[in-house]
Amino acid sequence: MASVEKVVIIGSGPAGWAAAIYTARANLNPLVIEGDPISEKNRQQGTLPLGQLNLTLEVENYPGYPSGHTRELLKSALPEESQPYWVAANKPQPNHGINGPELMELMRQQAKNFGTRIVSKDVLKVDFSKQPFTLTTHDGEKVQALSVIIATGARANYLGLPSEDAFKNRGVSACAVCDGALPRFRNNPIIVVGGGDSAIEEANYLAKFGSKVLLLVRKDTFRASKIMQQRALDNPKIDVRWNTELHEVLGNDDKGVTGVKLQNNKTGEIVEQPCTGVFLAIGHTPNTSFLDGQLKLTDKKYIQWTTPARTYTSVEAVFAAGDVADDYYRQAITAAGSGCMAALDAERYLAHHGHV
Ligand code: NDP
Repeated sequence: MASVEKVVIIGSGPAGWAAAIYTARANLNPLVIEGDPISEKNRQQGTLPLGQLNLTLEVENYPGYPSGHTRELLKSALPEESQPYWVAANKPQPNHGINGPELMELMRQQAKNFGTRIVSKDVLKVDFSKQPFTLTTHDGEKVQALSVIIATGARANYLGLPSEDAFKNRGVSACAVCDGALPRFRNNPIIVVGGGDSAIEEANYLAKFGSKVLLLVRKDTFRASKIMQQRALDNPKIDVRWNTELHEVLGNDDKGVTGVKLQNNKTGEIVEQPCTGVFLAIGHTPNTSFLDGQLKLTDKKYIQWTTPARTYTSVEAVFAAGDVADDYYRQAITAAGSGCMAALDAERYLAHHGHV
């Protein structure tokens, strides 16, 4: 087995890269296990490396990125092979802020600039019962570490309907940015399920491609922020259906999704609606199953921070940062902030125990 790492960071969203930048600059020589980019399971459930921001179009609220010439920034900051594909493809720049994948590549590069080492694998198993801790990756490699920062984030939820599962990748998706531009969605009706900011963001994006977007909201109110609500209501191609739930996805092997059955949950009435796509935007589940009960979790399966204003978990020297522990703020900037906190907590732990 290779030598024992001082700090290993699991996960590669904003929390993971912020932790990497800080631990690298503290000379802790961090190793980031960023996730397996090739796994079909990761693709389907939205847990590819670089986190949820890699699935987001315009990030308008990450401080420091007003609208501007991000393409020029990317070209000067990143080596060519790391530039998001649309730089090379000459795709339009965002109107506001920065694209999620651009922001993530910039953070990754910043961590690399300070010597962060990166392994593109999934961690399948951890042993936190004794130090050094042992992490096992999907190919069986074992990594030992004196401290661990978990920043594995959260992933999109599905409703769990058998018909939804049957048509995943053939019209059913939880990521408009990944799949929305596919030919099957063009000039056809599209369904989006959810009433939060994500649902409205997805509906707005999909309205560029589809003939119309039906936004299914199970209550008679949105959960989304006011500015996003207004965007949905102002978009003539978005048709908000209140008190409406997805009852069944219809389709066949040949064409994939061809329609849906929608149910009004006030009247019970079920109607059929032709469409070629169904996008779920109904919240998230934290990526904690690989922990297999070794850290204390909340009722919703998020890692429990055990001390106010610290990133400590129930195991000393294991720290948690970002959406894997935060079901409340769930923002890129708060994830990055807690990644920084976890790095400082790890550094202080290692110093206190004479490891640095
Ligand atoms: P939210 O948890 O905010 O919203 C989830 C939505 O899905 C709610 O409307 C909820 O309905 C609905 N829902 C949940 N389960 C079901 C179900 N089984 N059937 C039907 N509907 C269901 O998640 P989001 O992903 O939208 O947002 C997460 C966080 O990210 C938020 O803090 C948000 O502000 C932020 N965000 C910000 C963006 C931006 O600023 N541009 C863009 C995207 C996200 P109900 O209300 O009835 O519970």
